[in-house]
Amino acid sequence: MVLLLTVALGLVAAVSGAAELRLSEGGQTAYVIVTGSNPTPAEQTAAKELAEYLKKVTGAEFKVVAESATEPKPAKAIYLGWTAFAAEKGIDGAKLGADEWLIQPVGDNLILAGGRNAGTVFAVFEFLEQYVGVHQLCPFTPVIPQRSDLTVRVEAQRGRHAFRKHLLSYDLAAGPGLHPDRHRTEASRRRTLRYFAFNKNEAHPSHLWTDQRFETHVEEYGIVPKWGSGGWVHTMVLYVSPGEYGKTHPEYFALHRKADGTLYRDVEGLGWGSMGIDHCLTHPDLRQVVVRKLRGHIEADRREAQARGRPAPFIYTVDAGDGLPPQGCLCPNCRAVVGPEGAESDLWVDFVNAIAGAVKADYPDVLIRTLAYNHTLAPPKRARPRDNVLIWWCYPYGSRDWFHPITHENNRTFREQFEGWAALTRNIQIYDYWSRYRSGRNPPGFPSPLVEHPGHPARAALLPGPGNLRLLCQRQ
Ligand SMILES: [Zn+2]
Repeated sequence: MVLLLTVALGLVAAVSGAAELRLSEGGQTAYVIVTGSNPTPAEQTAAKELAEYLKKVTGAEFKVVAESATEPKPAKAIYLGWTAFAAEKGIDGAKLGADEWLIQPVGDNLILAGGRNAGTVFAVFEFLEQYVGVHQLCPFTPVIPQRSDLTVRVEAQRGRHAFRKHLLSYDLAAGPGLHPDRHRTEASRRRTLRYFAFNKNEAHPSHLWTDQRFETHVEEYGIVPKWGSGGWVHTMVLYVSPGEYGKTHPEYFALHRKADGTLYRDVEGLGWGSMGIDHCLTHPDLRQVVVRKLRGHIEADRREAQARGRPAPFIYTVDAGDGLPPQGCLCPNCRAVVGPEGAESDLWVDFVNAIAGAVKADYPDVLIRTLAYNHTLAPPKRARPRDNVLIWWCYPYGSRDWFHPITHENNRTFREQFEGWAALTRNIQIYDYWSRYRSGRNPPGFPSPLVEHPGHPARAALLPGPGNLRLLCQRQ
């Protein structure tokens, strides 16, 4: 999604104008691609990708040269990244946002530039998509027109993501048996990296967990994950584990009821393993443990980001396990927070508000993310998320009706619960399943309709309201 900025806010020269550029005639080009004198690895990748795609489209060889090696200046050039040519035209890449991109024709020349790290990569892919007609619909479905004569009319523009976070999942591991990427070859890895980058997305963390080779996504394309350490999802069991606290502090764990009615501190997660672990979220010492560990993660991430010259992550997850019992901790304090109305999300929001409140003064840019999922899907009745809490809306798997619009009666619960949260907070991230799960009325293996369903929560998240921060996360 492109957000065009028509006002330059005094940061860089306002982009303007349009030009017709004859990039190729009969499979020959008069253009060269010119990089700055000190391009980052991501900007070098951008140059390589641009030359490669343009060759696939036109058949022409677009040479990549360093600006320092171009005297006199070429008659026609695509200036890529932070070049002296762009600076002469008043474009200072350092003043663009990290993922912001810029497209500016200048006479017969073209500037494709962006902030560091990924802005120039995004400028190239935006240009290819908008003006050349190249698309990457999935790793295996590039759309590459064949045009030995290629003339494009380019309009000046500055763009950036409408949302702070974008994420596509392309799950190599969970594909069906005939999935072309099942062998995880080097070629398939490259295709997948390009697909993520082309669509201006982070790689899905499941790839980072199971396939550390995706770390090169950060180096080659400059796309830095926005979530911090301490776990990506279902993290409370990592913060307060039975192994570390089960014997010494059983009071940190949820009070559950046995079949015979007796209450006990459940350090075994109902015997389901780590995902079934729940906690006594009102316990003040437990809250202190989480805050201490969270601070440790933030500090460690900032040190690493500084050492590597990357932006630091700003999303930290403190959330429940998976498949928890419908009722959380049964101790009187926790039940009092839930109140007679009985929304478990009240307890979670109360807890996460306390954690977020404890770190806000020191880390005002950090968001504490918590799931609205399973037993916390229904919005709270009384608690209201703080402004540095990010609600991670995740309607479980395929449990809505994919074959009817979101406005259909079958999807009433989905719609009402989402809108309930959206009325409480500006910070909602959507984790959506556009997938093949068998569930409810949805048959397995059937491609889910993609248009209407993600469209509704996306539109809801964009509704005008106080403030302007909205986040969207989609899963394919
Ligand atoms: Zn409790």
